[in-house]
Amino acid sequence: MAIDVSKKGGSFLIAETDPEEVFIPEDFSEEQKMFAKTAEDFVFNEVIANIKKTEAKEEGAMVGLLKKAGELGLLMIDIPEKYGGLELDKATSMLVAEVISKGGAFATTFGGHTGIGTLPIVFFGTEEQKQKYLPRLATGEIVSAYALTEAGSGSDALAAKARAELTEDGKHYVLNGEKTFISNGGFADVFIVFAKINSEDFSCFIVDRDLKGVSIGAEEKKMGIRGSSTVQFILENVKVPVENLLGEQGKGHRIAFNILNVGRFKLGVGCVGGAKLAFDDTMKYCKDRHQFGQPIISFGMMKNKVANMATNIYVVESMSYRTAGLLDEVLSSIDKESAEAANLIMKGIHEYVTECSILKVKGSEMLDYVVDEAVQMYGGYGYIEDYPVERYYRDSRVARIYEGTNEINRMLITGMLIRKAMKGELPLMEAAKRLQGELMEMPSTDDSDNDGLLAEEMKIIRNVKKVGLLTTGLAFQKFTTSLDQQQGVLGGIADIVIEGYSMESAMLRTQKIAAKGEAEAATVINMTRLYVYETIGKVDLWARELLAACAEGDELRTMLAALRRLTRHTPIDTLGLRQEIADTFIDKDKYEL
Ligand SMILES: Cc1cc2nc3c(=O)[nH]c(=O)nc-3n(C[C@H](O)[C@H](O)[C@H](O)COP(=O)(O)OP(=O)(O)OC[C@H]3O[C@@H](n4cnc5c(N)ncnc54)[C@H](O)[C@@H]3O)c2cc1C
Repeated sequence: MAIDVSKKGGSFLIAETDPEEVFIPEDFSEEQKMFAKTAEDFVFNEVIANIKKTEAKEEGAMVGLLKKAGELGLLMIDIPEKYGGLELDKATSMLVAEVISKGGAFATTFGGHTGIGTLPIVFFGTEEQKQKYLPRLATGEIVSAYALTEAGSGSDALAAKARAELTEDGKHYVLNGEKTFISNGGFADVFIVFAKINSEDFSCFIVDRDLKGVSIGAEEKKMGIRGSSTVQFILENVKVPVENLLGEQGKGHRIAFNILNVGRFKLGVGCVGGAKLAFDDTMKYCKDRHQFGQPIISFGMMKNKVANMATNIYVVESMSYRTAGLLDEVLSSIDKESAEAANLIMKGIHEYVTECSILKVKGSEMLDYVVDEAVQMYGGYGYIEDYPVERYYRDSRVARIYEGTNEINRMLITGMLIRKAMKGELPLMEAAKRLQGELMEMPSTDDSDNDGLLAEEMKIIRNVKKVGLLTTGLAFQKFTTSLDQQQGVLGGIADIVIEGYSMESAMLRTQKIAAKGEAEAATVINMTRLYVYETIGKVDLWARELLAACAEGDELRTMLAALRRLTRHTPIDTLGLRQEIADTFIDKDKYEL
């Protein structure tokens, strides 16, 4: 039976998407925008206004902000109404995450509480656990933290040594262990803690801070997000009531990994907010700053940077809200009142695990790129603490490390696609085989829609997705079950897949905007063209490397010939395009479409 791939995570690689079906930021309702406005006012008037206090770790400053966010309803977005939450759609939740991320360290505090600290109870809690904790987490009356990492187990989280033993009377688990780098740990009231029952069954517990035997280490001295709390969390013979086991014994990995998955799409979209702030500040600075008798923004090389920064923000913004739309679509069919609701929601989000990892990697790398260029455009002043980009540069760096490092996420991207193919959930290998067959035939003339708007660029994107399929199929043929040991290959495929999703998301949004005849169409068309032509060269290079790792002799030559057909393109004047894009944003003074 044919699988309906259109609703499957990872399907973008083998299916075409109608722009009208894609959610884009231009689709936000007035209500959603109002929510974002509340968050934005809060970030500028409270968080940024108090940034010196929080960065200096002034007692109570950060937790005070979290409580204020609670009063404004910003902590209850993902909590079911039944437990005092607002239960809003993922698009709103992501929009708020984007705006909150302009608050630097506060974004980590906020995400630690509303995301990884609260969602385990939303998705895996018993009725009693939900009633006991969620209403207070929703208002900020209590603050939460997520304690998975240990000194000896970071990426390899399941190697945790923390342990739990059931007491003889069967009423408590006794927990022992040390958790490292726990965000919010300095002031959290409740911790989601992972430990192995009988040193074997990886499980999850809700641990109240006031239990005897709980202690907190000193604050880590960090490179960035200094206002956030990051501490060791130590458990010495802590008696946790059995009713505080979260989920099932031995199933803690389901909680750990699924919750990180949710964290990833929020982190990806959060990077958009941070990048917009850095971009806006830099635009203003570069218009004011004069050298050689001119504002530095007027120099060609500076304009190049403006165009590249704006384009990369546009791309990640497009893929973020496309993913939000996919999640909302799958979640909207779930009956929120059913006993299975939380489980089904979790499953729905898991469907898009590949897209979530793509967002995390692409978002965090885009942010680092943007803040790095921002420092460069400020010149020496960018290196001085009095100027905000110095902090943005330090704050952004952690996004590539936590919520699963970008290396781990790259492996997940390729690994999940292959796993889905193996389980028969996504006909990737069939599509790869068909493609190989097609490419061996006479050169096709894919001139289907060669003269429409962005027709050439659409062809390039289709071909990039084919390059993703070609390399995945070939790598699987060559390495079969040992492919998971070939990290260079997995990473290379992930890079191509990431770009396939990035380019296509920008294209779909642009097409949707252009179809509405919106005034901003010219700029988004330019940005989409720039991104497509800039990226195709990189994809070609990565693919060559992959093919050479997977084939040799005649087979390699044939594959390279096929690749040439897929990546062939006539360059356009991207340098001119950049100047045009930059001028639009210079006129506007900020990232605004
Ligand atoms: C500011 C901050 C806040 C944090 N907050 C929390 C929190 O609230 N809760 C929590 O539980 N944790 C938290 N963490 C921990 C964070 O999730 C880990 O630091 C992260 O998962 C990486 O683990 P590690 O530091 O042990 O690095 P390692 O796992 O030692 O990784 C080091 C390097 O090796 C690479 N690597 C590791 N394994 C592989 C592999 N199999 N293949 C290829 N490369 C590999 C990594 O990608 C990385 O580049 C936080 C960390 C920081 C810095």
